[in-house]
Amino acid sequence: MDADFLIIGGGIAGISAAARLSKLGSVLLLETEAAFAHHASGRSAALFEPHYGAPAVVGLSMASEPDFRAREGVLSPRGLMLVAKADAREAFDHDLKAMAFDQISVAEAQAIVPILNPDIVAYAGHATHAEDVDTDLLLQGFLREARSRGAQALTGAKVTGIEKLADGWRVTSAAGTFTGRMLINAAGAWVDQVAVMAGIKPLGFTPNRRSMARIPAPGGHDVSGWPMMFGPGEDWYAKPDAGALIVSPAEEHPMDPHDAWADDMVLAEGLARYEEMVTESVTRLISNWAGLRTFAPDRVLVIGRDLREPSFFWLAGQGGYGFQTSPAASRLAADLIAGRAPEIDPGLVTQLSPTRFG
Ligand SMILES: Cc1cc2nc3c(=O)[nH]c(=O)nc-3n(C[C@H](O)[C@H](O)[C@H](O)COP(=O)(O)OP(=O)(O)OC[C@H]3O[C@@H](n4cnc5c(N)ncnc54)[C@H](O)[C@@H]3O)c2cc1C
Repeated sequence: MDADFLIIGGGIAGISAAARLSKLGSVLLLETEAAFAHHASGRSAALFEPHYGAPAVVGLSMASEPDFRAREGVLSPRGLMLVAKADAREAFDHDLKAMAFDQISVAEAQAIVPILNPDIVAYAGHATHAEDVDTDLLLQGFLREARSRGAQALTGAKVTGIEKLADGWRVTSAAGTFTGRMLINAAGAWVDQVAVMAGIKPLGFTPNRRSMARIPAPGGHDVSGWPMMFGPGEDWYAKPDAGALIVSPAEEHPMDPHDAWADDMVLAEGLARYEEMVTESVTRLISNWAGLRTFAPDRVLVIGRDLREPSFFWLAGQGGYGFQTSPAASRLAADLIAGRAPEIDPGLVTQLSPTRFG
């Protein structure tokens, strides 16, 4: 066997798994693209917001926090602000409670973000618990950890064929043919395609596109200390990023796996929702992009051995939480593969298991 663990996918899921699994045996990671993190992992908003998502996702994000804290410089303060118009009271109240915000006055909100339009913004909420993630530092940290223990991570290695052997797997890739004892499916939007290639029943993942625009700092303000702002029901958000602002329409448009790009019309409509809430109009875009957020039918990550083929391991459905859950998700994967009791709550392990799909 070339490796104990063959990992398909060089995004945050595959790379964090490589770091953990390199403690248990030999690792070979295969990535289609010429660089790691080319797809969803290179296109995120880079936020750690532990209250975001379904309860099992929140559990995994919370369980990731100590690991993040131990990685110097990966997290830095950001905060969140929810702003709503007068006709959005119900949605505002829902989000305020769900995401543990404090309600503040519009004047207080304006003191933090001076471009808020007091004629339009009727309600505001604020929280300090969300933080920026230095995604590159996190990825490079995991990659370094994996390689320091002998893991091999290959780019330009698209897997095109997967064959079951008596004691493992043989994969055909653009970088050659390799054998491994266990296959870890961390292929992001392509996880169901990889399963089908391996003769495994797909679980029904949906890649959803989300677009993003980078705009110059509004009105020339120093935006570095502003919180991430969003509308109720998450129908847009804006976040300071390297001296500019990234603004997303926060759409969820299902599509087949592909190298995603922003939809101009969707972007324009999202920018209009943001613009309505502020006093500075958007005059130009610096750049734009889109990524696929891939969800299981119940929007909870899928981590565990396949029900019918235990040498096929799912590390999938990271949705909009792939970075903030990666420390605990990759640790859980290693715990399950090692056959040791997971560090996280057993109830959570069950909620994440692929066996829930039968
Ligand atoms: C706009 C946007 C904002 C987001 N904001 C946040 C955020 O603030 N916080 C957060 O935690 N998450 C966020 N996310 C989600 C996060 O980016 C994803 O959950 C995460 O990147 C998924 O990682 P992954 O490794 O599963 O997938 P990917 O990064 O897509 O990696 C999968 C890799 O598998 C490779 N692959 C597929 N098929 C094959 C094959 N046959 N052979 C070899 N390689 C293959 C692909 O080339 C790809 O590189 C956001 C996502 C988007 C799009």
